[in-house]
Amino acid sequence: MSSDQTWKEKYVQELETVNQQQEQWKAERNTLERMLVRTSLASEGQTPELDRLLARVRSDLRKKKIDVKTWRELQRQIDHQVALLDDLPSLKHDNQPGPSVNIAPEPVAGAIADTGVAGSDDIDDTNSQRLRIARRVGHLLGQLLSRVSLESVAEAHARNLQTALLSSDNWDELREGLNQVADLIVAAVTRSQREFEAFLKRLDERLEVLQEHFSVQSSAQSDRQAAAETLDRNIRDEIEQAGRHIEASDDIHGLKQSVSSHLEGIGEAVGRFRVEETEREKLLFEQLMAMQEKVAIMEAHSEQMQGQVRKERERAMTDLLTQLPNREAWQERLAFEFNRWKRHQYPLTIGVLDIDLFKRVNDSYGHKAGDRVLQLVAKELKSRLRTTDFVARFGGEEFVLLFPETPSVDAQAVMDKLRLHISALPFHFGGEPVTITFSAGLAAFTPEDTEESVFERSDRALYIAKEEGRNCVKISQPGG
Ligand code: GH3
Ligand code: MG
Ligand code: MG
Repeated sequence: MSSDQTWKEKYVQELETVNQQQEQWKAERNTLERMLVRTSLASEGQTPELDRLLARVRSDLRKKKIDVKTWRELQRQIDHQVALLDDLPSLKHDNQPGPSVNIAPEPVAGAIADTGVAGSDDIDDTNSQRLRIARRVGHLLGQLLSRVSLESVAEAHARNLQTALLSSDNWDELREGLNQVADLIVAAVTRSQREFEAFLKRLDERLEVLQEHFSVQSSAQSDRQAAAETLDRNIRDEIEQAGRHIEASDDIHGLKQSVSSHLEGIGEAVGRFRVEETEREKLLFEQLMAMQEKVAIMEAHSEQMQGQVRKERERAMTDLLTQLPNREAWQERLAFEFNRWKRHQYPLTIGVLDIDLFKRVNDSYGHKAGDRVLQLVAKELKSRLRTTDFVARFGGEEFVLLFPETPSVDAQAVMDKLRLHISALPFHFGGEPVTITFSAGLAAFTPEDTEESVFERSDRALYIAKEEGRNCVKISQPGG
């Protein structure tokens, strides 16, 4: 039946949507977990016990061993340790944030509130360290907010928290704020799970409707079959009786009457059948209309959900600062181009680009100037490469590129042109003209390559470019 066919397609589509949604939730969850790792790294160096608990958080995340009950206990212990911090007279403060935190510390705004203990440098240090951590968490929270979608109340709450973390100097307030950030993260992680459960429930309800539809259909089918059999039997009986009369009778007049009464009987049976058939059809038609309406609602819902999934997926794949594809998007594209290359074996070149002496830009003109350089370089990369080429921000001041159907020498010509163009851009910071250059390494895919090996070769070529004085593009030699 064709309406069943449409239903099947709908359900296959729905299941696909579920899969996509699951992918999206996975990406969101990954982001949250990464943020949690960064936050915990940023909070290290207070006390050995707190460090131990934070390491446990990271280890659980790494092993994907998140058990709600154990984590609640873990959180309780962390809360306890954080509360103890307030009673500590001094802290060690030689610890720097872990290596994966790549956001430069913001200068601490304003003076640190006087603690009332005269002449205690340690307490001043403690406070400034705490404030630095709060600022860093504030930054991370900002990034987090642009990555996940919260309900509007939670979103507003988180924005207020972020403002407090970035500007308040009151430690008690900040400590409370940090606790709330932890709650927010936990809430966001569990939200995706709840949404998925709700979706399954909706799907289940729809399956029930579908089942109901089938059972009505099949009972209508058996009603019709029974009615047809009755009609058939009635007609056969009438004909048999008429036949017997014809055989037994030699009275023409009586015979005529008998035949016409049997014909009448047949006519009545057919009439009854028709009336019942019309009833059945009317019922089925109504049923069909109701089902169509349900399908339309479902379709609208499914479209809306797909749109949402698409939007969130795009957001999860885009680098915030430069609006270029991010590292996740890069991995996906690399895998795609690698598989295509394995099938077709056209020349495919990969590139790694790193801005030269970028730390100097940050150190001399500030982090904001550095960010501006990254945005401008990204814009030039995007607008000057062919649409079939691919560029993503790999992290920090490093970008990665893919040149499909391009031998490495041709890619080198493209990169050199880009290099000259960017080095001639008139950057100005604080009234001073500044020249920005980059170095790059290229590698063409060879039959022995894996995604990792070809990337490593281009990275080595980049290293050679830096060694040889920067502002140049090197090609990885085969075997090297
Ligand atoms: P080289 O020529 O050897 O690449 O020198 P470099 O200074 O560019 O390299 P290094 O790896 O020493 O420094 C990279 C700097 O990039 C350090 C880091 O603070 C800065 N950085 C990383 N991400 C960002 C960012 O998002 N914004 C800003 N402004 N700076 C960033
Ligand atoms: Mg670098
Ligand atoms: Mg660099």
